[in-house]
Amino acid sequence: MDETAAPKKRTFETYDVTVEAAELLSPHNKHLRFRLPAGREIHFQAGQFVQMFIPLADGKERRTAYSIASSPRETGFFELCVTRVEGGESSTYLHGLKVGEAARCMGPLGTFKFVEDGRDSVFISTGSGIAPFRAMINDRLERGKADPMYLIFGNRFVEDILYRKEWEALALAHGNFKALFTLSRAAWDGPKGYVQAHIDDFVPDPSSKNYYVCGLQNMIESVRQKLETLGVPKERIRFERYD
Ligand SMILES: Cc1cc2nc3c(=O)[nH]c(=O)nc-3n(C[C@H](O)[C@H](O)[C@H](O)COP(=O)(O)OP(=O)(O)OC[C@H]3O[C@@H](n4cnc5c(N)ncnc54)[C@H](O)[C@@H]3O)c2cc1C
Repeated sequence: MDETAAPKKRTFETYDVTVEAAELLSPHNKHLRFRLPAGREIHFQAGQFVQMFIPLADGKERRTAYSIASSPRETGFFELCVTRVEGGESSTYLHGLKVGEAARCMGPLGTFKFVEDGRDSVFISTGSGIAPFRAMINDRLERGKADPMYLIFGNRFVEDILYRKEWEALALAHGNFKALFTLSRAAWDGPKGYVQAHIDDFVPDPSSKNYYVCGLQNMIESVRQKLETLGVPKERIRFERYD
């Protein structure tokens, strides 16, 4: 063995992809489907992310993380759900991509994955933090998993509820999946306020569940504090921070 050899650096696959679909889901969120070249496949676990290569104005390139929003059963393409951040170079670039245009990326990366320990699961997100849960929940339902899953999805307005029809159809088709949408700025008949306010009335026996939380830091912190008061041990709270 060569003891002077440098430790092996992990390399990730890079992909030249083509935009196959680009659809505005809400005023600030775009759903994008990227098709891999013929003969190539991407294998990932639900919850993981890719890094998109973002060309910058000065000719350089930046890599920015986006959770894969599609099921891992689809290996010929992957989908993203991207929030346009005012003045943000990466999200503005991705929102500007048109069907047929080329892009580059690397992945899959990340350890935000489903834990198979037999416990029921609760998914909590706001905005595009829903992306990894679209992958995880579809993955489990496609594989016929019957364990209870609860989704709590917070947004400001009705039009911000990403993939609403899909969630409603899944809840109708699968008795083990339940979704709650809560709105913080809208007058509507449904649940109101922040996600953390709904955990104990929506989730039965909340301290017994596994929790997955995804979105911006403020929300994650508020949810963690709430879960602590409900007696959920830290090791059963997994999170993916976008900022
Ligand atoms: C593991 C991981 C996965 C991610 N997955 C997604 C994803 O699936 N979809 C997605 O839209 N973003 C996702 N993000 C955030 C993404 O990487 C970028 O930070 C985001 O698109 C902003 O980049 P920008 O260059 O446009 O703006 P920048 O100029 O870099 O602005 C960054 C600021 O934008 C805010 N911000 C970052 N993400 C969001 C967001 N999603 N919604 C609202 N405000 C935000 C934060 O305050 C942050 O400080 C993920 C981040 C990580 C670390």
